[in-house]
Amino acid sequence: MSNYTHFNLSFDDAGVAWLSMDTAGRSVNVLAQEVMSELIAVVDEVSNRAPSGFVFSSAKKRGFIFGADVNEFELFRTASDVEAHIAEVLHCFAAIESLDCPSVILIDGICVGGGLELALAFDRIISIDDATCQFGFPEINLGLLPGYGGSVRALERMGAEAAMKLVLHGRFLKVREAFDANVVDKLVSSREELAGAARDAIAGTISRRPAPESSNMAAVIADERAALMARTSPRNTPAPFGILDHYSVSEFNRNNMMKAETKLFSELMMTPASAGMRRNFQLTDAVKKGGRGDHEISHVHVIGAGTMGGDIAAVAAMNGFEVTLQDISADAIDRAIERARTLYERRLKAPQKVEAAMSRLRADAGGEGLAGADLLIEAVAEDLAIKKAVFADAEGKMKPGAIMATNTSAIPLEDIGAALTDPARLIGMHFFNPVPVLPLVEVVYTDASNSSFVDRAMYVCGALKKLPVRCKSAPGFLVNRALLPYMFKAVEAMLDGADPDRIDQALVGFGMPMGPIELCDQVGIDVCLGAGKVTGMSAQVAARFTAMIDAGNLGRKSGAGFYEWDGKKAVRPRGSYDQHELDAIAADMLAPLVAECRDAVAEGVVDSADVADAACIFGIGFPAFRGGPLFWDESGSA
Ligand code: NAD
Repeated sequence: MSNYTHFNLSFDDAGVAWLSMDTAGRSVNVLAQEVMSELIAVVDEVSNRAPSGFVFSSAKKRGFIFGADVNEFELFRTASDVEAHIAEVLHCFAAIESLDCPSVILIDGICVGGGLELALAFDRIISIDDATCQFGFPEINLGLLPGYGGSVRALERMGAEAAMKLVLHGRFLKVREAFDANVVDKLVSSREELAGAARDAIAGTISRRPAPESSNMAAVIADERAALMARTSPRNTPAPFGILDHYSVSEFNRNNMMKAETKLFSELMMTPASAGMRRNFQLTDAVKKGGRGDHEISHVHVIGAGTMGGDIAAVAAMNGFEVTLQDISADAIDRAIERARTLYERRLKAPQKVEAAMSRLRADAGGEGLAGADLLIEAVAEDLAIKKAVFADAEGKMKPGAIMATNTSAIPLEDIGAALTDPARLIGMHFFNPVPVLPLVEVVYTDASNSSFVDRAMYVCGALKKLPVRCKSAPGFLVNRALLPYMFKAVEAMLDGADPDRIDQALVGFGMPMGPIELCDQVGIDVCLGAGKVTGMSAQVAARFTAMIDAGNLGRKSGAGFYEWDGKKAVRPRGSYDQHELDAIAADMLAPLVAECRDAVAEGVVDSADVADAACIFGIGFPAFRGGPLFWDESGSA
């Protein structure tokens, strides 16, 4: 037995080397650089001792190998640093490949990124036939491609088309899909059978199937490129385009393709897009962690069964909460429950699951559910008097210690809390429309709010599979405070003579889901005016909105606003304009958004620039590859 920190190596009587990986100090295996350095030493030892077989497995209870440690990517300063690191790893994987004995890797969980790249260097890949086993390359989500030879070895095993799609789309294969795609050579039904299967493989009884031929790569690549061009550009997200070029070689040459992979990976690592996407990955992780904890809530009572309340109730029941739904309109409750069924049929599919969720969502016109509820979410009309009446009534009926939350977009929580004997019970849970789709929730607190209620509301959001951020009660919270001045700035520019199509093209080209003028139409001119009264807007913009409302031009919902609308599509020229000009317009329009985020951080409305950036990515659709407005502004990239 040799002495390693992250690995256990032993040799049996038949001279087979058995190596199991157990990353020290972590619950799952990660190919951190320190672990990789040790693996290089281990493989050296194995190679020197000339075993009769080499078997690699994981000693962890959960997962197999989750890939590299993304945080360590930030340590690379130049593309040459990256290349030097890769050269060592490639050398190690090549040493496994060229051992004089059969090599076998035994998979019993998630095997992705660098983990899959390592697996592909073995002669035989054996996996348990279990839903926890998944195979794939998530690197594209970090603006990268696999860098340890995976793009090439995957091609050799799976054929060019399947490998290209695995690398390009980042979708994980379930274990049976991986077997069908030739990634896995043999499936066994339990962990106990893995060692026996390894011995069979060493004895040569498990063969490897030939890689399928890819018939029409040029056409497949052309289709993928066209689909990509419809939603992004090489300038914004170079990785997917680089991957297509990488797989466009007319003749396969392993050495050349390995070199090309290293070069592309190292270059991509230095791009602003990859830096932004790595930050997005870290922000998402941090926000998810903020939503993890014991919420101690089982029964949620929702008052207001309209657009927001109906969907909040549906999502809560879908995620296991007992929900009672109250409204003054029985019709509104019925419609919300109908909508919930459609949602469940689409998301949950299995009739049993649909019925279970439906049975958790109960109509409660009389509000009987209030007495037993652990959490109230209020989503009635945006009217202070109505909200105060609802909360005053609810406080008398709810048990002590139950949390009371409002979904208000703009009414100060302090004003609503004035209706309560104990305002400490009041917090905000600001969901975004449509609730089943948009992940962000602003969890809002006042100076009076009970901080453990705020924590528990964060955990409820986590249980709803939402991304919660903590916000101090202030006009517009974070998202509307940042978004509206940006929209109004665009309207002002237009009123001063700028071409709206050019403005919208500039921001779409920047990576926003739609331009700010089109967004005004989409949100509704009346809603823009109402929101602007809370966060502030110029007299010029207010006058224009008012004139449009008077003329019945409310935007998409009335068929006309700043643009004519053809159903869900704004009718606008979508012209092509000079890129420098568009870059300047985008920077100009986004300046107020960036400034508001910075001020919100300085005023303590959100805890950090990270939270502001996360809220803008998840709530506004600020492009993830920009890493958030503050990150983008600091990085100074176009
Ligand atoms: P909505 O008009 O669709 O629904 C409001 C519902 O409240 C209606 O069904 C109405 O019958 C009911 N209601 C009114 N008074 C009531 C009372 N006293 N008791 C019980 N039910 C009552 O409104 P919505 O768009 O769902 O908005 C609800 C809240 O969510 C508002 O505070 C709004 O600002 C906020 N909000 C809306 C959006 C959005 O995009 N719609 C986004 C975020 C937050």
